[in-house]
Amino acid sequence: MSDCLFCKIAGGKIPSTIVYEDESVIAFEDINPQAPVHVLVIPRKHIPTTLDIKEEDHPLIGLMFRTAQRIAEDRGIAQRGFRLVMNTNPDAGQSVYHIHLHLLGGRRMHWPPG
Ligand code: 5GP
Ligand code: ZN
Repeated sequence: MSDCLFCKIAGGKIPSTIVYEDESVIAFEDINPQAPVHVLVIPRKHIPTTLDIKEEDHPLIGLMFRTAQRIAEDRGIAQRGFRLVMNTNPDAGQSVYHIHLHLLGGRRMHWPPG
């Protein structure tokens, strides 16, 4: 997807502060952090929304969560707690249509979310 922001970040065409990457996923700092820890975990594969996840993608989704888990541990927020969010479509506030897992932590979270 040549015009997708996160495909460009995954391909190194747009700079980002990369936290982790391998052949399947990449994690980078959110440009507008909403918490002391705010990392985005994305698949290299272009999947527009969570509604587009196919059965063949299930291992990839698992790798996204495993990556988030490891980053939470590395940042020392695993035991205190953190939040994993995937916004889908306008009512949830999705602004980039390439799925991404928000890893948010380092402060007390509120519920219900805004
Ligand atoms: P959404 O609103 O789609 O759930 O989340 C998109 C996220 O991407 C937002 O938290 C936003 O701050 C982040 N974002 C948007 N553009 C860029 C960018 O160019 N670089 C980085 N690192 N994050 C971005
Ligand atoms: Zn994309």
